Amino acid sequence: MTPTTITRIEQNNDSTYTFWFTPEKTFDYSAGQFVEVFIPHEADDRGTHRWFTLSSSPTEKLLAITTRKVSKMSSFKHQLFSLKVGDQLLISQAMGDFVLPMQRSIPIIFLVRGIGITPVRSMTKFLSDTGTENRDISVIHNVKHSDDLLFKSIYDTVASQTVSEVEKDNDVGKKMTLLAKEQFDTKPGSRVYISGPEVFVEESNHRLIELGLKPSQIVTDYFHGYNA
Ligand SMILES: Cc1cc2nc3c(=O)[nH]c(=O)nc-3n(C[C@H](O)[C@H](O)[C@H](O)COP(=O)(O)OP(=O)(O)OC[C@H]3O[C@@H](n4cnc5c(N)ncnc54)[C@H](O)[C@@H]3O)c2cc1C
Repeated sequence: MTPTTITRIEQNNDSTYTFWFTPEKTFDYSAGQFVEVFIPHEADDRGTHRWFTLSSSPTEKLLAITTRKVSKMSSFKHQLFSLKVGDQLLISQAMGDFVLPMQRSIPIIFLVRGIGITPVRSMTKFLSDTGTENRDISVIHNVKHSDDLLFKSIYDTVASQTVSEVEKDNDVGKKMTLLAKEQFDTKPGSRVYISGPEVFVEESNHRLIELGLKPSQIVTDYFHGYNA
């Protein structure tokens, strides 16, 4: 476990906040990875820890997680949102393989719903800061409200194509998958990176396989426990 200190709390929109924190010791991670966050408290039956993607980039001095306030929050979220600058947060080492492919020539199509944009922020900020990678990036982001189009100004700096979809009907998931497939067909050798609520990732993965993609051409990041 690495102890960290909350350094800044940034409000991204009505309900979404980014917690920036400083680790006590050097903390290594790759853009797109996640950590387990522990907040000791008298917890409800869902416990004292959650997984969060680091929305920060390794090129930034501070670490960050981004999450939403909901009307009926878990005890964990209540505790998280009561933290103030100077308070402590314990995090595990970074995990996960939802990271940029080693081979820089592979075009990446991000297919994302809602807060699933956090690993995209991390990776595109990394690419924007390092500047030398020259990768082919597209972002397809679906949200319920236009205010939820977080981090667009960051991914727009490195993406050659972005589609921001504000949900209007129930078929939006299907439409987004078809868009991803269209882009996949125009970019030989590309990989689709799907991120967001579990059901969205599961359904999009399934549809893309039905449309002819191989599992090796898809990378998934399931936000288990996140429904919106
Ligand atoms: C690899 C990975 C990466 C992730 N990255 C992120 C990320 O970057 N950002 C992010 O926000 N989340 C992320 N998540 C999801 C995160 O771990 C939490 O599961 C999520 O934020 C929901 O938090 P919560 O369980 O505290 O519920 P809340 O956000 O408090 O509530 C979520 C829903 O559960 C309901 N609920 C609350 N308490 C209870 C209860 N006791 N019993 C039943 N229902 C209840 C609420 O009414 C609401 O509908 C990630 C998960 C994984 C696995």
